[in-house]
Amino acid sequence: MEKKARQFGYTITRDRQIDYDANKHDISKIVAAAEPSLNLCISCGTCSATCSAALFTDFSLRHVILLLRRGETSGLAKEVAKCMLCGKCQLVCPRNVSTRNLIIQISKAVIPAQL
Ligand code: SF4
Ligand code: SF4
Repeated sequence: MEKKARQFGYTITRDRQIDYDANKHDISKIVAAAEPSLNLCISCGTCSATCSAALFTDFSLRHVILLLRRGETSGLAKEVAKCMLCGKCQLVCPRNVSTRNLIIQISKAVIPAQL
């Protein structure tokens, strides 16, 4: 008889190593050139905590910026499409990142590449 795995109510997360050097950083360079305040982001997450889109979706601007900086840009077009460009994140950002323009520049950079 096959033994059933015991369910503890949690799982062990899959090992996920990031090979930063193997990733492509061209899109983050394009976006940083168009919106230099990208470099001011400290990944605090204040934008995500106040985000209007996050109320209805799993969108997180903090996560989008992290993926962009890591060069993991394959799913970014789908992610940024969830943003409503309401600008709340820009009002609360402690580093004065121009978040709305940042999202627009990410869209411009990734959407042609992912169509
Ligand atoms: S609130 Fe500003 S500094 Fe904080 S994660 Fe968002 S963009 Fe970056
Ligand atoms: S502009 Fe986009 S990321 Fe910023 S709070 Fe509004 S929906 Fe969220």
